[in-house]
Amino acid sequence: MKTPGKIKKPGAVKNDFGTLSHDLSERVKELNCLYGISRLFENGDRTLGDAMQSVVDLIPPAWQYPEDTCARIKLKKSEFKTANFKETRWKQSHDILVNGERFGTLEVYYLVAKPASDEGPFLEEERNLLRIIAARLGMIIERENAKSNMELMYVRERELRKKLQSEIKMRADLTRKLIHELKTPLTALIATSQLLSDETRDEKTGRLAKHIFNGANNMNRRIEELHDVTRGEMGQLKLTLKRFNIEKLLNSILEETRPLAEQFEMKIDLEIIRPLLEMTADPDRVRQIIMNLVNNAIKYAREGKKITIKAREKAGEIIIEVRDYGPGIPQERTGTLFEPGYQVAYQEASTGGLGIGLSLCKVLVELHGGKIWARSTPGKGSGFVFSIPLLKPARNQE
Ligand code: ADP
Repeated sequence: MKTPGKIKKPGAVKNDFGTLSHDLSERVKELNCLYGISRLFENGDRTLGDAMQSVVDLIPPAWQYPEDTCARIKLKKSEFKTANFKETRWKQSHDILVNGERFGTLEVYYLVAKPASDEGPFLEEERNLLRIIAARLGMIIERENAKSNMELMYVRERELRKKLQSEIKMRADLTRKLIHELKTPLTALIATSQLLSDETRDEKTGRLAKHIFNGANNMNRRIEELHDVTRGEMGQLKLTLKRFNIEKLLNSILEETRPLAEQFEMKIDLEIIRPLLEMTADPDRVRQIIMNLVNNAIKYAREGKKITIKAREKAGEIIIEVRDYGPGIPQERTGTLFEPGYQVAYQEASTGGLGIGLSLCKVLVELHGGKIWARSTPGKGSGFVFSIPLLKPARNQE
């Protein structure tokens, strides 16, 4: 239950009410000032300088004697003042901190003497308001700095990207020219050596012609691969999609690669988990991926004596693995195995290849919307696995 308080005289009540309503109107002025400052920075198209000037103009109305108040924001390289600004001895000021460091000051002056209050002629509430405004200005400047840094970074990033694109284009043009330069004499070499090998009656000449033919053909194939990788990087490689039976394709690959494997006393097996549905993809490119992996296994994993091509369907994808039982690949290489050129660093110790075959496999698999990866246990062999969606239309097709 409320205990009745002392009954006040009518004059005292009037006094209390007067103080209360004065305090209230002071708080409203402060709130108006803070609200005005917040509104200023909501509007993004104002420059920081314009906004600072408006802040300074919003300050005097929030102080006890607006018409006798002036204000100044002093920053490192600029300052903003009310039109009536004058330094006097009746001053209140607060540091503006940016990222924890002093960046400027916010000052309020009375132009004429006023009755003494909490802090000279100033109120404690005015000190608090000054502190809040200075803190808000600090935050705004921090935000603006971060924004202009970001804009600068964005401009730099755009310039770099443009430069990089033109470099990629230059490199692609150069590769195209180089490929043309190389292929012209090579085509003639392939045709002539083929003719010579077919027509000569001399066994030694025939053997040499066959050597030249094989070497030139091999080189031609590598050049084509390089061309494909470059076109793939430029997004110019297209697929010709067809519906086909992957099991038939695997059998024909087996027939084609078996003689070469047997030359090195290697066995090739096919392990299929049926049923294998028909798939829609570019059969020539799928063949190229598998041939590349099988040829690598013949080249790099001879001592394993065995290659297994495994195929199965899982969750709408065909998954194919070319498994060998050769030396395997060290863990630290598996991450960059499919990146063009990365293999060069390792070649001295191995075969001297260019490291283009696997990057081309990756380009081709990804064009089909699939993934390729390697799993390997050094000393026990490697498995190169790729997945291609059975039906998902590929990104690039003719
Ligand atoms: P290249 O044969 O021209 O070097 P690849 O991109 O086909 O290019 O292969 C990159 C490298 O990966 C090869 O140089 C080889 O060191 C390694 N590699 C590829 N396949 C195998 C494999 N089955 N077993 C061991 N190492 C392999």
